[in-house]
Amino acid sequence: MTQAPAGLANWAGNVSFAAGRLHKPASVAELQRLVAGSARLRPLGTGHSFSPLAQVEGDLVSVARLPMLVEADRAAGTVTVSAGLRYGQLAAILNSAGLALPNLASLPHISVAGSVATGTHGSGDRNGCLSTAVTAVELVTAGGDLLQFRREADPAGFDGLVVALGALGVVTRLTLRTLPAFSVAQFVYLDLPYEQVAAQFDQITGSGYSVSMFTDWRAQRMTQTWLKRVADRSGPPPPQWMGGIRAGQQLNPVPGMPGEHATTQLGLPGPWHERLPHFRPDFTPSAGAELQSEYLIGREHAIAALAALDGIRSLLAPVVQISELRTVAADELWLSPCYQRESVAYHFTWVPSPAAVMPVIEQVEATLAGYAARPHWGKLFAVPPAELAARYPRLDDFRAKMGQLDPAGKFRNEFTDSYLPPLA
Ligand SMILES: Cc1cc2nc3c(=O)[nH]c(=O)nc-3n(C[C@H](O)[C@H](O)[C@H](O)COP(=O)(O)OP(=O)(O)OC[C@H]3O[C@@H](n4cnc5c(N)ncnc54)[C@H](O)[C@@H]3O)c2cc1C
Repeated sequence: MTQAPAGLANWAGNVSFAAGRLHKPASVAELQRLVAGSARLRPLGTGHSFSPLAQVEGDLVSVARLPMLVEADRAAGTVTVSAGLRYGQLAAILNSAGLALPNLASLPHISVAGSVATGTHGSGDRNGCLSTAVTAVELVTAGGDLLQFRREADPAGFDGLVVALGALGVVTRLTLRTLPAFSVAQFVYLDLPYEQVAAQFDQITGSGYSVSMFTDWRAQRMTQTWLKRVADRSGPPPPQWMGGIRAGQQLNPVPGMPGEHATTQLGLPGPWHERLPHFRPDFTPSAGAELQSEYLIGREHAIAALAALDGIRSLLAPVVQISELRTVAADELWLSPCYQRESVAYHFTWVPSPAAVMPVIEQVEATLAGYAARPHWGKLFAVPPAELAARYPRLDDFRAKMGQLDPAGKFRNEFTDSYLPPLA
């Protein structure tokens, strides 16, 4: 099936895909023929990226209509899934089978392939980005060949294939590590002072399976701190903690948005997939009208970066709807923003005005420059290509992989030409 994408744009509406057609093959053979016969093609997931990662002067292809697959291998502790599935769909199926994924992002609406391709992450000192769960990748490469790569067959080379920004081929299936299903109880604390956060950072981020702090940069306090704890018999945490007060009602982290759009809080235990994301699948996530940026830095710089960003809060407060601070474990994936770095992620949900936001993004980048901040590939940033390259030690190795798997540059676009140009 092919659509002429009149008016087709990404979720936020700031990136237009109107140049070519959107192909939705119904079989892998159809996809292989399409890829082999195309001069230029970019894979598209659910279009939740804010950066022009998927934009192309040519056609797009979605794997959402390929036959659905969710095949668990309990002995191996893995599940093989069709790449176009959304995490929300997959998680519900896995949970009914008594299985879980190690972590989820703030929203369940995004596709597995698109999230894995950008190093999308949730939070948790011991949780890597979602791409770290991948143990095998199946993809259609530029010539139309269907290739399978397994971590165990070539661990070192595999690390270059997972966070791939759609630049190596069209991913059709992914194998993901699973855990036994578990329950999570979610508590929210209000108004932790920055002073306390600075003094007790490790205790705070270590106080749950996944911990998120939110601030609006209007005062030196975290408006909300979300603790997602594996449910056990230890009872609720104290009413007052780290200088904050436990919330007594269901909240949304985004000011002005309804609490009902967010996953259940107040300590009520529930399945992992109904607590690890902040937003419920049946509502628009986050604010709905917004732009986003996010920067990942070494966690040893977390407090210095908080102080530095607080120093420009008069610039941030007018254009930020909400910011979020999360922790992510280090990994070995070449293009992961957490490559070989225990990380903290500073996220910004901006007002939906590129003209107002882009100058402030540049200020944030100048403020974080001393920490070699790696921007989220799927969110807005302005870091010049040479600076970005210096922050990714394996970038040239990835460029070499692009040259091997896609010698004619079929999957290239303006974004990859800027940040991952062909090796000379
Ligand atoms: C409201 C909101 C909340 C968000 N929250 C988080 C969060 O908590 N954590 C976080 O890290 N990010 C978050 N993001 C960002 C989002 O997770 C990423 O941008 C993610 O990549 C989106 O997945 P997608 O399926 O929409 O991919 P798309 O945006 O469609 O594509 C992203 C990339 O994946 C590639 N791709 C897609 N499908 C395939 C395929 N089959 N084969 C090969 N390449 C493919 C594309 O070419 C592109 O390069 C959020 C975004 C929004 C809108």
